[in-house]
Amino acid sequence: MKLQNWWFTTLLGTNESMQPPLSQNIESDIVIVGAGAAGLSAAISLMDKGLKVVLLEKNICGGDTSGKSAGFLTPDSELELAQLIRRFGITGAADLWKVATTGVSMMANHISKHKIDCDFQVQDSLFLGIGNGGWQDILEEVESRKLLKFDQQLYTKESLKGILGSDAYSGGVRYTGTFGVDALLYCQGIKKVLLENNVQIYESSEVEKIEDHRVNTHLGSVKAGQVIFCADKLQHSLTHFADNVYHAQTFLSVSEPMDEKKIATMFPEGRYQCWDTDLVYTYFRLLGTNRLLLGGGDMLTTFSKEDVNSSRVIDKVIKHFKEKFPYLADLEFIQFWPGRIDTTRDLLPTVARDEKNPWLHFVLGCVGLPWATFCGDFAARHSYNDAACTDHHYYEYLRAGRDFFVPLWLEKMVGKQIVFSLNNAWAKYYQKDIRSKETRRITSRREAENAVVNKK
Ligand SMILES: Cc1cc2nc3c(=O)[nH]c(=O)nc-3n(C[C@H](O)[C@H](O)[C@H](O)COP(=O)(O)OP(=O)(O)OC[C@H]3O[C@@H](n4cnc5c(N)ncnc54)[C@H](O)[C@@H]3O)c2cc1C
Repeated sequence: MKLQNWWFTTLLGTNESMQPPLSQNIESDIVIVGAGAAGLSAAISLMDKGLKVVLLEKNICGGDTSGKSAGFLTPDSELELAQLIRRFGITGAADLWKVATTGVSMMANHISKHKIDCDFQVQDSLFLGIGNGGWQDILEEVESRKLLKFDQQLYTKESLKGILGSDAYSGGVRYTGTFGVDALLYCQGIKKVLLENNVQIYESSEVEKIEDHRVNTHLGSVKAGQVIFCADKLQHSLTHFADNVYHAQTFLSVSEPMDEKKIATMFPEGRYQCWDTDLVYTYFRLLGTNRLLLGGGDMLTTFSKEDVNSSRVIDKVIKHFKEKFPYLADLEFIQFWPGRIDTTRDLLPTVARDEKNPWLHFVLGCVGLPWATFCGDFAARHSYNDAACTDHHYYEYLRAGRDFFVPLWLEKMVGKQIVFSLNNAWAKYYQKDIRSKETRRITSRREAENAVVNKK
């Protein structure tokens, strides 16, 4: 099995060309730094506003986390609906779920409107329980979805066998409105749309410094009225908000194409995108080419500082997966790759303006392509015309400096990794923001904004 990102392999078969690096000092109305799902979404939101928009990317568009991802377009990311309800109550959870569902539909709409060729698949989500604890998680998710009046289908261990060829799961919940994509081709497709709409894009252009309204790369600079950072793995030297973010590592692998008979055994009814209830979960879906995409990780490497490039972790994921689907024992996985997803301590993104320089916007730690897509668009809309926006309450959910269970000063003593993983676990399994002053403030702001919208 080769260490190589499959999506880069798919890019080799296209005519996508690189944009040259920025090599001059230029001016624009808005400069966006980082062209993953968030930065591209910010750019597309601004492209037809009659503004001069510049996009700077240190790699190629989508060349970092977005273009390594498994391309599951589902609202369910690290925070399940039940966990959001526990933390924020029903109203808050509905607000935040809307972030993710809006992000999913924005991406699907861009693909269909601009005819982006990115292996777009309509794939229902199938969340799978492992053991009795997993079954309880499934039931809780179903109850949570019912509270928000969403549709879904619950499967017991027995009935699940009708839609998935495995008896290793204790049940599952399935819902519609979710899709699969080749996220690197998606990003490159959006790049093309932006170029056609006069957005200036410079790839291989890493921003190294911000001086007042000017961002500097190694060869040039852009002076802009508004600056939107949608960049990952940011250095503290660029912003103190970088301290809000760490990363979690996961691994992906892709198989040789599967034959139709095996596919029919695995998915007798339809090709779902699946993941399970384990803490470090396994996830899989079929690509349009009938290759199986399989991802996962382990506890030891999730929070490691650098990419772990050995196949050790994914080999184990594949082994356990094949135990659940024994008829796939001889399926060969041909490529694998790791990726580190930027995340905050409580798994919600940070979207904030610099306190002293309100023209400087940051979108950081988005876990999930849909979250990134919503947040990039949100920051862009607010940077362009804050007064016309009626969703300021999201700034409260996503502000920097939120409350954390394990105090941050401990990071200096025991390291960011440990404190981060503890705060992540706390956010996922115990945190209740519902009673906090902040949540009350958000609720009253939300009500005020709703009143304005209703009046209009
Ligand atoms: C293996 C893996 C599987 C995943 N699977 C899924 C999935 O199935 N579904 C899902 O929704 N999410 C998935 N994710 C998570 C998802 O990829 C991320 O949450 C999402 O891509 C974040 O988008 P972003 O735009 O915020 O960040 P990024 O995609 O990281 O974009 C930030 C960009 O900024 C650039 N940059 C950084 N610093 C600078 C600088 N100084 N100057 C210029 N540019 C800079 C980077 O090169 C990068 O392109 C997965 C991630 C991984 C690693």
